[in-house]
Amino acid sequence: MKRYLLAPGPTQVPPEVLLAMAQPMLHHRAPEFVTLFKEIREDLKWLFQTRQDVLTLVSSGTGGMEGAISNFLSPGDKALYVNGGKFGERWGKLCKTFGVTGIEIKVEWGQAVDPQVIADALKKDPTIKAVYVQASETSTGVAHDTRAIAEIVRSRDETILVVDAITALGVFDLKTDEWGIDVMIAGSQKALMLPPGLAFVSVSDKAWRLADKAKNAAFYFNFKKERDSQQKNQTAYTAGVSLLVGLREVFRILKAEGLGNVFARHARLAHATREGMKAAGLSLFPKQNPSDALTVVSAPDGVDGQAVYKNLREDYGITAAGGQDHLKGKIFRISHMGYIDTFDVIQALAATEMVLKGLGYPIKLGAGVGKAEELLLKK
Ligand SMILES: *Cc1c(COP(=O)(O)O)cnc(C)c1O
Repeated sequence: MKRYLLAPGPTQVPPEVLLAMAQPMLHHRAPEFVTLFKEIREDLKWLFQTRQDVLTLVSSGTGGMEGAISNFLSPGDKALYVNGGKFGERWGKLCKTFGVTGIEIKVEWGQAVDPQVIADALKKDPTIKAVYVQASETSTGVAHDTRAIAEIVRSRDETILVVDAITALGVFDLKTDEWGIDVMIAGSQKALMLPPGLAFVSVSDKAWRLADKAKNAAFYFNFKKERDSQQKNQTAYTAGVSLLVGLREVFRILKAEGLGNVFARHARLAHATREGMKAAGLSLFPKQNPSDALTVVSAPDGVDGQAVYKNLREDYGITAAGGQDHLKGKIFRISHMGYIDTFDVIQALAATEMVLKGLGYPIKLGAGVGKAEELLLKK
């Protein structure tokens, strides 16, 4: 059976990136590494739309999230976090781990946070040192309004905004410096079209000032230590060399396409997927602000969302994703971020229709596919 990967991470890796990573091992203290890392550090600034350094860490995305708590906050500090899904919930667990008082803004799964709620909470308690949010909450398929939140936080000298952009960077526009995002986190295995294993974190001057006062323990994910090494185009510990070699190739691809075109492609494919699902008679799970990274579909009445996910894989070779926690069985998720084009979307819609038909759900085969074909047709 031929396998297709349409999960919201890890995602498909382009063949030229795979080939680049298959080259003989480069040593991380060799002069060639310095040249490679220098180039990558510049390109990361381009992708993050920042003049600040972007740190590269050897870990999955959660390592970047952990560092974004431990490096900026001290035990007893207060942090506001948006919990609108599985990844938002993680901020709360991280706060607890590092003795930080996490003030939760609970958002119903499928909804985006109302930025005014953040503004009110900060007004009520000016001692809050940081606000944590997802740009794209992968468990629900909702994008929070990062720009509006940044507008609220940027005027406060003593509060930083930390954005988990792990399924947002390289999908839609995030103007780090212009909007005032203090810390932004990305991971290699989502829209960056690489295998898992790297996290990236941008840090503003305001955030570095906070880091100077922070008293939490950070050894491996020590941002100041990494900054001092990485400014010399070195890493504090062994670099994720092969992934960085792949990343150089990813930047060649992204820069040839152009950032604006990358966002436009994601928007076009996401729109076609959503409209296709609706034309097939299905409803989308997000009540507002659907993320262009993935489409989250509500399982129709009488259909188990986990069965859709399972049959996509077992009957048709497509790895998508199901729901987590209380959404298990209620939804299924299909990614369209990274190395994705027209026929990945067509394939996802065709397979969804076939799986639902196979499960006995009355669906008109081709309705969703036809809609997407119409929307993606080149004239
Ligand atoms: C994938 C993901 C993460 C990080 O998960 P890891 O498994 O640690 O890479 C964090 N936040 C969001 C929104 C994600 O989609």
